[in-house]
Amino acid sequence: MSVLEIRDLQVSVKLPEGELKPILHGVNLTVRAGETHAIMGPNGSGKSTLAYSIAGHPKYQITGGTVTLDGQDVLAMTVDERARAGLFLAMQYPVEVPGVSVANFLRTAKTAIDGEAPKLRTWGAELKGSMEKMGMDPAMAQRNVNEGFSGGEKKRHEIVQLELLKPKVAILDETDSGLDVDALRVVSEGVNRVQANGDTGLLLITHYTRILRYIKPDFVHVFIAGKIVEEGGPELADKLEDEGYERYAVSAS
Ligand code: ADP
Ligand code: MG
Ligand code: MG
Repeated sequence: MSVLEIRDLQVSVKLPEGELKPILHGVNLTVRAGETHAIMGPNGSGKSTLAYSIAGHPKYQITGGTVTLDGQDVLAMTVDERARAGLFLAMQYPVEVPGVSVANFLRTAKTAIDGEAPKLRTWGAELKGSMEKMGMDPAMAQRNVNEGFSGGEKKRHEIVQLELLKPKVAILDETDSGLDVDALRVVSEGVNRVQANGDTGLLLITHYTRILRYIKPDFVHVFIAGKIVEEGGPELADKLEDEGYERYAVSAS
């Protein structure tokens, strides 16, 4: 059973002039395989900074704390090593990869993570099946990654990656933002399938409570000004839906 442990994580963003702007002020979080955690907070509270720091984005400097996956020091790993160790990040703004088809991208990623190429005999069907379940035309596998994809297609493609790569821990950064209700339902169903297999720890980052009508979190963490200020079960999401973040803003300032 895998476990991601974040202890007293402190992170600054590197400004172009070389200065550091502190964003995360001591984040503590434990995500176990089979658990779904929702991190909910207002814009600018540092949610994406948390996701990018765990993924190893060079724009962020870790100034304190630890992140381990099954006891291994994640912060000491390269971005590739983090992916091979079983960490997966679906970004708020997925990047285009010109010249690399979806099919090639997924096969290369799968090979890197598993340490061997997927069996040709079953891989094609697996890819096609996963795309169809996500409401994507399998012909899209021949197109370049995210090039000319709509917002919804990018998010569907991310869930195809999630289903096929079977990470130990997946961080989904605002996978719900910008989706219409049909896309939200399909994306949520995909996440629910991953949730149901019980092997993956899910960290769902979101600004809105809407997606939590489709995906049931086991734990909800309220994130304000770079730290977790309240934790609870799914009922906390309902409370946020009714009351918003305003009452935290007072205590956070
Ligand atoms: P969220 O995902 O919760 O909306 P972010 O992690 O994107 O929050 O941003 C957290 C804070 O870091 C914000 O105040 C944002 O303005 C700041 N920030 C992020 N990147 C930069 C940057 N390159 N330069 C200056 N401030 C930044
Ligand atoms: Mg569960
Ligand atoms: Mg964000």
